[in-house]
Amino acid sequence: MCLSLRDKSLFRQQAFIGGNWVDADSGRHVPVYNPATNDVLGQMPWMGAAETRRAIECAEQALVGWKKIIAKDRATILRRWCNLILEHKEDLAQIMTAEQGKPLSESRGEITSSAGYIEWFAEEAKRTYGETIPAANKDQQLLTIRQPIGVVAAITPWNFPAQMIARKCSPALAAGCTVVIKPAPQTPYSALALAALAQEAGIPDGVLNIVTGKAGEIGDEMTANPAVRKLSFTGSTVVGKVLMEKCALTVKQVSMELGGNAPFIVFDDANLDLAVRHVMASKFRNSGQTCVCANRIMVQKGVYDEFASKLAVAVNKIQVGPGNEADVTLGPLIDDRAIDKVDGLVKDALDKGAKALVGGAPLDIGELFYKPTVLTGVTQNMQVFHKEIFGPVAPLYCFEDEDEAIALANSTRYGLAAYFFSRDVGRVWRVSEALEYGMVGANSGTLSSEATPFGGIKESGIGREGGKYGIQEFLEIKYINMGLEE
Ligand code: ADP
Repeated sequence: MCLSLRDKSLFRQQAFIGGNWVDADSGRHVPVYNPATNDVLGQMPWMGAAETRRAIECAEQALVGWKKIIAKDRATILRRWCNLILEHKEDLAQIMTAEQGKPLSESRGEITSSAGYIEWFAEEAKRTYGETIPAANKDQQLLTIRQPIGVVAAITPWNFPAQMIARKCSPALAAGCTVVIKPAPQTPYSALALAALAQEAGIPDGVLNIVTGKAGEIGDEMTANPAVRKLSFTGSTVVGKVLMEKCALTVKQVSMELGGNAPFIVFDDANLDLAVRHVMASKFRNSGQTCVCANRIMVQKGVYDEFASKLAVAVNKIQVGPGNEADVTLGPLIDDRAIDKVDGLVKDALDKGAKALVGGAPLDIGELFYKPTVLTGVTQNMQVFHKEIFGPVAPLYCFEDEDEAIALANSTRYGLAAYFFSRDVGRVWRVSEALEYGMVGANSGTLSSEATPFGGIKESGIGREGGKYGIQEFLEIKYINMGLEE
């Protein structure tokens, strides 16, 4: 292990099933790499269907006791988990940067926000209210209660290795569900470190399980096993659709956080400095590898050139390098598939007449680094306008008027996040309403927080994480009609 952690027990290379740290039945491991250096960080058990089935059985057994614990006590345990995560923030950030590549400051921010989700849902555990319904007859009392769905399977991506787990697990656990998690193969160690702290916090054995290994086999077991009543997935739309189809066979509930193609619209009347500041945060955070990253930057004709120059100045200040080095603000991409995709999109745009105002090619300081890039003269026939870029590339498209901007913004199968900048109060409301997206930033380039509902419409997903809505995804409504004696 090439990490210097204060608490070395947080770096786990075994999966976590039924409260035990375990290897694959076959004994097989696969390596996990540091994307900044290509060094092997450690090994990960290569598990499949049998281990997943066992984890689901453990979760099923643990459900019996966990759902009976009163909400206030479940909240106390979750709160302990949150506190431990904050106490170990530095180690958790080091692990995340090593396996994921993002700058340490971003990793620290993600750990804080992960703890924030757990704190929020610890509190929400106590507010899973039912209701009484006025009855039409005197001899009836009508009411609803909310009960945990049951065993939850969670499949998470590599771009937010801790927050995605916190967002899914803490509402599930708060609701009284138990979970089996499959983290992304690129970033298992953040998940396993969180599990170690969950165990220390007193989350009972079997309530939270982590299985690592063969995505297809693990996913097949999770979706086919009738004991799993809910699948919560964050990842690509392609995989999300496959999983939904598989869940149909046992009529599981699903929450899906899928891909995006976020428009970022800058109107003539915008505060350009503010828009530049926010597009920097929205576009270049996590090297552009988030589903809510500004993907299509549309700038109105009257301010196009000025906006492009201001953006170029800001982008030129980005410090690219390994995420654990001081002052670095942009790390590597996750793997060579990501580099190839981003470079392919840029080459296609340049071939079709776009200009690279900044960057436009890989950066020669390692295999997975890409120059922060600003493309001007982007048109609709370029792939970069339609595909989710997932890289540090800002394509600038020029538009004439509001109607065109809205029509273009909505002309996609995705509907996750959209942003726009304008100082006209009428337009702010009009455009907010017209954008067909689950989340809109009006003069804001950031959206995610534990207090608000995160999620998309159209092919960007189903369901919401965060806010008062997040816990409802893990609760069933039961209607009770109580007949009363005369
Ligand atoms: P990306 O291409 O960004 O890695 P994916 O949708 O492929 O996005 O991955 C998101 C998560 O889904 C990861 O944990 C990955 O291992 C998992 N995954 C990929 N394919 C499958 C599958 N067929 N069944 C279950 N999980 C899968």
